[in-house]
Amino acid sequence: MTTIALPHELIYAGELILVNAHYPYRKSPRGQRLVPVHNGMDVVLLAHNAAKPLELLMAQLGNWEQIAAVSGWRSRREQQQIYDDSLRDNGKEFTENFVALPGCSEHQTGLAIDLALRRNEIDFIRPDFPYTGICQTFRQKAPYYGFVERYPKAKANITGIAHEPWHFRYVGKPHAEVMTEHGLVLEEYISFLKNHQYGIAPYVYQGRSGLAEIAYLPAAAQDTILTTNANHSYSISGNNVDGFIITAWRTRHDRK
Ligand SMILES: [Zn+2]
Repeated sequence: MTTIALPHELIYAGELILVNAHYPYRKSPRGQRLVPVHNGMDVVLLAHNAAKPLELLMAQLGNWEQIAAVSGWRSRREQQQIYDDSLRDNGKEFTENFVALPGCSEHQTGLAIDLALRRNEIDFIRPDFPYTGICQTFRQKAPYYGFVERYPKAKANITGIAHEPWHFRYVGKPHAEVMTEHGLVLEEYISFLKNHQYGIAPYVYQGRSGLAEIAYLPAAAQDTILTTNANHSYSISGNNVDGFIITAWRTRHDRK
Protein backbone atom coordinates (compact mmCIF):
# COMPACT_ATOMS: atom_id res chain seq x y z
CA MET A 1 0.00 0.00 0.00
CA THR A 2 1.19 3.44 -0.91
CA THR A 3 -0.55 6.73 -0.26
CA ILE A 4 -0.36 9.74 -2.54
CA ALA A 5 -1.69 13.23 -1.81
CA LEU A 6 -3.37 14.77 -4.85
CA PRO A 7 -3.51 18.59 -4.72
CA HIS A 8 -7.00 19.94 -5.43
CA GLU A 9 -5.94 21.81 -8.57
CA LEU A 10 -5.11 18.50 -10.28
CA ILE A 11 -8.84 17.89 -10.82
CA TYR A 12 -8.42 20.32 -13.73
CA ALA A 13 -5.71 18.28 -15.47
CA GLY A 14 -5.48 14.95 -17.24
CA GLU A 15 -6.81 13.00 -20.19
CA LEU A 16 -10.37 12.71 -18.91
CA ILE A 17 -11.14 16.33 -18.16
CA LEU A 18 -14.66 17.25 -19.20
CA VAL A 19 -14.63 20.59 -21.00
CA ASN A 20 -17.92 22.09 -22.17
CA ALA A 21 -20.07 25.18 -21.68
CA HIS A 22 -20.64 24.20 -18.02
CA TYR A 23 -17.05 23.27 -17.23
CA PRO A 24 -14.56 25.69 -18.78
CA TYR A 25 -10.98 24.69 -19.35
CA ARG A 26 -8.59 25.91 -16.68
CA LYS A 27 -5.02 26.25 -17.71
CA SER A 28 -3.22 23.12 -16.62
CA PRO A 29 -1.29 23.61 -13.39
CA ARG A 30 1.36 21.32 -14.85
CA GLY A 31 1.59 23.27 -18.11
CA GLN A 32 0.94 21.83 -21.54
CA ARG A 33 3.51 19.97 -23.57
CA LEU A 34 2.45 20.39 -27.16
CA VAL A 35 4.02 18.70 -30.15
CA PRO A 36 3.34 19.03 -33.88
CA VAL A 37 1.30 16.35 -35.56
CA HIS A 38 3.14 15.11 -38.65
CA ASN A 39 1.10 16.57 -41.39
CA GLY A 40 3.34 18.02 -44.06
CA MET A 41 3.03 21.78 -44.36
CA ASP A 42 0.34 22.57 -41.84
CA VAL A 43 1.26 23.10 -38.22
CA VAL A 44 -1.23 21.36 -35.97
CA LEU A 45 -0.28 20.93 -32.32
CA LEU A 46 -1.52 18.31 -29.89
CA ALA A 47 -0.68 17.34 -26.32
CA HIS A 48 2.28 14.95 -26.50
CA ASN A 49 0.36 12.08 -24.83
CA ALA A 50 -2.37 12.31 -27.50
CA ALA A 51 -0.05 12.90 -30.45
CA LYS A 52 1.86 9.64 -30.01
CA PRO A 53 -1.08 7.21 -30.23
CA LEU A 54 -2.51 9.28 -33.09
CA GLU A 55 0.72 8.82 -35.04
CA LEU A 56 0.61 5.07 -34.38
CA LEU A 57 -2.92 4.93 -35.71
CA MET A 58 -2.13 7.10 -38.72
CA ALA A 59 0.84 4.89 -39.55
CA GLN A 60 -1.71 2.15 -40.22
CA LEU A 61 -3.76 4.41 -42.45
CA GLY A 62 -1.22 5.68 -44.95
CA ASN A 63 0.51 8.33 -42.84
CA TRP A 64 -1.73 11.31 -43.54
CA GLU A 65 -1.88 10.72 -47.27
CA GLN A 66 -5.67 10.65 -47.34
CA ILE A 67 -6.51 12.29 -44.04
CA ALA A 68 -5.55 15.84 -43.07
CA ALA A 69 -5.25 17.33 -39.61
CA VAL A 70 -7.28 20.54 -39.71
CA SER A 71 -7.12 21.91 -36.18
CA GLY A 72 -5.59 20.74 -32.91
CA TRP A 73 -4.59 22.84 -29.93
CA ARG A 74 -5.91 26.40 -29.88
CA SER A 75 -5.21 29.18 -27.44
CA ARG A 76 -8.19 30.87 -25.84
CA ARG A 77 -7.46 33.86 -28.04
CA GLU A 78 -7.59 31.79 -31.22
CA GLN A 79 -10.88 30.26 -30.08
CA GLN A 80 -12.25 33.77 -29.50
CA GLN A 81 -11.14 34.77 -33.00
CA ILE A 82 -12.77 31.71 -34.59
CA TYR A 83 -15.96 32.37 -32.62
CA ASP A 84 -16.09 36.04 -33.62
CA ASP A 85 -15.30 35.31 -37.28
CA SER A 86 -17.98 32.63 -37.39
CA LEU A 87 -20.56 34.97 -35.79
CA ARG A 88 -19.79 37.50 -38.50
CA ASP A 89 -19.72 35.03 -41.41
CA ASN A 90 -22.21 32.34 -40.39
CA GLY A 91 -24.52 33.96 -37.87
CA LYS A 92 -25.50 33.22 -34.29
CA GLU A 93 -27.35 29.93 -34.68
CA PHE A 94 -24.65 28.20 -36.70
CA THR A 95 -21.91 29.48 -34.41
CA GLU A 96 -23.65 28.38 -31.22
CA ASN A 97 -24.15 24.91 -32.68
CA PHE A 98 -20.70 24.32 -34.10
CA VAL A 99 -18.20 26.55 -32.33
CA ALA A 100 -17.49 26.12 -28.64
CA LEU A 101 -17.53 29.21 -26.46
CA PRO A 102 -14.09 30.73 -25.90
CA GLY A 103 -12.75 29.23 -22.66
CA CYS A 104 -14.93 26.16 -23.12
CA SER A 105 -13.37 24.53 -26.17
CA GLU A 106 -11.78 21.09 -25.99
CA HIS A 107 -9.24 22.38 -28.47
CA GLN A 108 -7.71 24.47 -25.68
CA THR A 109 -6.78 21.24 -23.88
CA GLY A 110 -4.61 19.96 -26.73
CA LEU A 111 -6.55 16.68 -26.51
CA ALA A 112 -8.90 17.32 -29.46
CA ILE A 113 -8.31 17.23 -33.17
CA ASP A 114 -10.43 17.98 -36.21
CA LEU A 115 -9.73 15.76 -39.20
CA ALA A 116 -10.70 15.94 -42.85
CA LEU A 117 -10.63 13.76 -45.88
CA ARG A 118 -7.71 15.29 -47.75
CA ARG A 119 -8.81 17.50 -50.62
CA ASN A 120 -7.70 20.77 -52.18
CA GLU A 121 -10.43 22.71 -50.42
CA ILE A 122 -11.07 21.93 -46.76
CA ASP A 123 -13.79 23.63 -44.72
CA PHE A 124 -12.07 24.77 -41.53
CA ILE A 125 -15.16 24.82 -39.29
CA ARG A 126 -16.98 21.82 -40.75
CA PRO A 127 -14.45 19.53 -42.44
CA ASP A 128 -15.71 16.57 -44.42
CA PHE A 129 -15.04 13.33 -42.51
CA PRO A 130 -17.58 10.82 -43.86
CA TYR A 131 -18.79 7.55 -42.35
CA THR A 132 -17.28 5.65 -45.27
CA GLY A 133 -13.85 4.64 -46.58
CA ILE A 134 -10.68 5.57 -44.77
CA CYS A 135 -12.44 8.04 -42.46
CA GLN A 136 -14.70 5.29 -41.19
CA THR A 137 -11.73 2.96 -40.78
CA PHE A 138 -10.09 5.66 -38.66
CA ARG A 139 -13.29 5.98 -36.59
CA GLN A 140 -13.46 2.23 -35.98
CA LYS A 141 -9.83 1.92 -34.92
CA ALA A 142 -9.71 5.15 -32.90
CA PRO A 143 -11.00 3.75 -29.57
CA TYR A 144 -8.12 1.26 -29.41
CA TYR A 145 -5.75 4.22 -29.51
CA GLY A 146 -7.64 6.22 -26.91
CA PHE A 147 -9.73 8.47 -29.21
CA VAL A 148 -13.51 8.91 -29.42
CA GLU A 149 -15.79 10.76 -31.79
CA ARG A 150 -16.82 13.43 -29.34
CA TYR A 151 -20.03 14.94 -30.73
CA PRO A 152 -22.32 12.21 -32.15
CA LYS A 153 -25.62 13.22 -33.69
CA ALA A 154 -27.79 11.48 -31.11
CA LYS A 155 -26.06 13.18 -28.16
CA ALA A 156 -26.23 16.83 -29.24
CA ASN A 157 -28.69 17.58 -26.41
CA ILE A 158 -26.14 16.26 -23.89
CA THR A 159 -22.91 17.69 -25.32
CA GLY A 160 -24.45 21.03 -26.30
CA ILE A 161 -22.61 20.80 -29.64
CA ALA A 162 -24.21 19.76 -32.91
CA HIS A 163 -23.13 16.65 -34.80
CA GLU A 164 -19.40 16.94 -35.62
CA PRO A 165 -18.19 13.80 -37.43
CA TRP A 166 -14.69 15.36 -37.73
CA HIS A 167 -13.92 16.12 -34.07
CA PHE A 168 -12.03 13.48 -32.08
CA ARG A 169 -11.02 13.64 -28.47
CA TYR A 170 -8.24 11.76 -26.73
CA VAL A 171 -9.45 10.25 -23.46
CA GLY A 172 -6.82 7.52 -23.21
CA LYS A 173 -7.00 3.77 -22.77
CA PRO A 174 -9.12 1.93 -21.85
CA HIS A 175 -11.66 4.77 -21.51
CA ALA A 176 -12.23 5.24 -25.24
CA GLU A 177 -13.05 1.52 -25.52
CA VAL A 178 -15.46 1.63 -22.57
CA MET A 179 -17.22 4.75 -23.85
CA THR A 180 -17.57 3.25 -27.32
CA GLU A 181 -18.82 -0.09 -26.03
CA HIS A 182 -21.49 1.57 -23.87
CA GLY A 183 -22.28 4.37 -26.32
CA LEU A 184 -21.43 7.07 -23.77
CA VAL A 185 -20.21 10.59 -24.48
CA LEU A 186 -17.78 12.11 -22.00
CA GLU A 187 -20.53 13.93 -20.06
CA GLU A 188 -22.27 10.56 -19.55
CA TYR A 189 -19.07 8.66 -18.82
CA ILE A 190 -18.07 11.08 -16.05
CA SER A 191 -21.57 10.63 -14.49
CA PHE A 192 -21.46 6.85 -14.99
CA LEU A 193 -18.18 6.60 -13.08
CA LYS A 194 -19.71 8.33 -10.06
CA ASN A 195 -21.49 5.03 -9.43
CA HIS A 196 -18.07 3.37 -9.24
CA GLN A 197 -16.31 4.91 -6.30
CA TYR A 198 -12.68 4.16 -5.66
CA GLY A 199 -12.09 1.51 -3.03
CA ILE A 200 -15.81 0.62 -2.98
CA ALA A 201 -17.13 -0.44 -6.37
CA PRO A 202 -14.64 0.07 -9.21
CA TYR A 203 -15.79 -0.60 -12.74
CA VAL A 204 -13.86 -3.61 -14.01
CA TYR A 205 -13.13 -3.55 -17.71
CA GLN A 206 -11.52 -6.28 -19.74
CA GLY A 207 -10.81 -5.26 -23.29
CA ARG A 208 -8.14 -5.14 -25.94
CA SER A 209 -5.99 -2.81 -23.84
CA GLY A 210 -6.03 -5.17 -20.87
CA LEU A 211 -7.81 -5.62 -17.59
CA ALA A 212 -8.37 -2.46 -15.63
CA GLU A 213 -10.33 -1.17 -12.67
CA ILE A 214 -11.72 2.30 -13.26
CA ALA A 215 -13.08 4.34 -10.38
CA TYR A 216 -14.10 7.80 -9.26
CA LEU A 217 -12.42 9.45 -6.30
CA PRO A 218 -14.19 12.59 -5.06
CA ALA A 219 -11.84 15.49 -4.39
CA ALA A 220 -11.37 16.69 -0.84
CA ALA A 221 -11.31 20.41 -0.09
CA GLN A 222 -7.51 20.35 0.16
CA ASP A 223 -5.40 17.33 -0.75
CA THR A 224 -7.16 14.12 -1.71
CA ILE A 225 -5.50 11.02 -0.31
CA LEU A 226 -5.18 8.13 -2.75
CA THR A 227 -4.19 4.71 -1.42
CA THR A 228 -2.77 2.43 -4.09
CA ASN A 229 -1.80 -1.20 -4.41
CA ALA A 230 1.86 -1.75 -5.27
CA ASN A 231 1.01 -4.61 -7.66
CA HIS A 232 -0.90 -2.43 -10.11
CA SER A 233 0.10 0.42 -12.35
CA TYR A 234 -2.08 3.49 -12.13
CA SER A 235 -3.10 6.41 -14.22
CA ILE A 236 -4.82 9.38 -12.61
CA SER A 237 -6.81 12.11 -14.27
CA GLY A 238 -8.92 14.95 -12.99
CA ASN A 239 -12.50 15.13 -14.31
CA ASN A 240 -12.55 18.98 -14.35
CA VAL A 241 -15.72 18.78 -12.25
CA ASP A 242 -15.22 17.51 -8.72
CA GLY A 243 -12.76 14.68 -8.51
CA PHE A 244 -10.41 12.18 -10.06
CA ILE A 245 -10.68 9.13 -12.25
CA ILE A 246 -8.30 6.42 -11.10
CA THR A 247 -7.39 3.64 -13.51
CA ALA A 248 -5.62 0.66 -11.99
CA TRP A 249 -4.22 -1.80 -14.49
CA ARG A 250 -4.20 -5.42 -13.45
CA THR A 251 -2.82 -6.50 -16.81
CA ARG A 252 -2.00 -4.33 -19.73
CA HIS A 253 -1.62 -5.34 -23.37
CA ASP A 254 0.23 -2.89 -25.52
CA ARG A 255 -1.14 -2.94 -29.00
CA LYS A 256 1.11 -3.75 -31.88
ZN1 LIG B 1 -13.11 20.43 -33.17
